Amino acid sequence: MKPHQVFASALGLPPPWDVIEVVFDEEGSQGRGHLLLRLDFPAGSRFPCPECSKGCAVHDTRVRQWRHLDFFQHETLLEARVPRTTCERHGVLQVPVPWGRERGGFTQLMAAYILMLTREMPVKAVARALHVHDTRLWRLVTALVAEACRDVDMSQVRTLVVDETSRAKGQQYVTPFVEPGEEEARVLYVTAGRDHTTFARFSKDLEAHGGDPTKVKDVCMDMSAAFRKGAQEDLPGAEITYDRFHVVKLAGEGVDEVRRAEQAATGALTGTTYLWRKNPQNLTGTQAAQMFRLSELNLSTMKAYHMRLNLSEASTAGSAATAKRVLGAWRKWDHGASRPDKDGKPSLLEPMARVARTIKEHTRGILNYFRKRLTSGAIEGFNSYVQAARARARGYRPPETFKTMIYLIGGRRKFNLP
Ligand SMILES: [Zn+2]
Repeated sequence: MKPHQVFASALGLPPPWDVIEVVFDEEGSQGRGHLLLRLDFPAGSRFPCPECSKGCAVHDTRVRQWRHLDFFQHETLLEARVPRTTCERHGVLQVPVPWGRERGGFTQLMAAYILMLTREMPVKAVARALHVHDTRLWRLVTALVAEACRDVDMSQVRTLVVDETSRAKGQQYVTPFVEPGEEEARVLYVTAGRDHTTFARFSKDLEAHGGDPTKVKDVCMDMSAAFRKGAQEDLPGAEITYDRFHVVKLAGEGVDEVRRAEQAATGALTGTTYLWRKNPQNLTGTQAAQMFRLSELNLSTMKAYHMRLNLSEASTAGSAATAKRVLGAWRKWDHGASRPDKDGKPSLLEPMARVARTIKEHTRGILNYFRKRLTSGAIEGFNSYVQAARARARGYRPPETFKTMIYLIGGRRKFNLP
């Protein structure tokens, strides 16, 4: 076997393709050697028309290059004249080459390798390691993900979890629509924004992939008015379950608000911010002692804290009946909490009254948890892959890159690669 043939069989080149020249440039660029494999086909070869597969004569050719996996430590390029066939029926068309992608300048194997690396490390780091400009890598990864998203089957989608997330704190929201799945969650769709129109865009995409928005039976989400409107308009057959972690979180934010107002008014709560975010069983000895001292001060924050604990308890109740009983206490609190004080000033507990009103309005959806056992936290790894996506997309402003990463890491897409 001649050296050229070794490369041809290592590349798995089908006829009429062959390696005709191997050029090794030891100097290369930036101290890295370059290996160039020149591929070609014999004169008079015929290629199938890309449309009808009929064997056709070559009309003309264009020389192109593809970056391939490194040969030892050397950058390796394939170069070939890519033929265009001339078909009686379909005219002049470029023939796809077996080793390469149509665009992007990477071989299939290299593309698969890049995709594997991108799942594990930030694109910037991959770019550095491979000596490729990162915008070129982003273009490749985005194209691969878009291809993989095209043929996804969504005909059996009946349950959804929707949860907004941001690329950075308070910035560039995207809303992923996730199917919880029997074993592993799958990101079906990601769209920019967090308003009700995200649902319309999802429905359209669902239909484009063989799904039917009216067949979606359950959707789990937070209590935002935007999501409710979206779900009611675009998923008319879906019953809403409000995610219990979001419900408890809302109460936690209420406690925070009460604490800030009370601290501003009395100054009695210095250094207690994190104390109120913990449950009693998680307090350290010092914190428990601090909590005990605070309990003797008749603080609104303490009342708010107990309301929050009560809600946490409801959220972990074993049955809807128990939860309903606990939630009932919130209704009573609503009256007391929203009453202005004797000077007519609004109560410090007003934020909790607001939470109570929200809970009251959403009681049915909150209690649905006990029948459906659906939460957004139940999607194992959902947050971890969003975090991972955020890290991979670091340094990239366009939300498109964040979306691409969420699909890549959480989409469980099949890529048409070796
Ligand atoms: Zn043809």
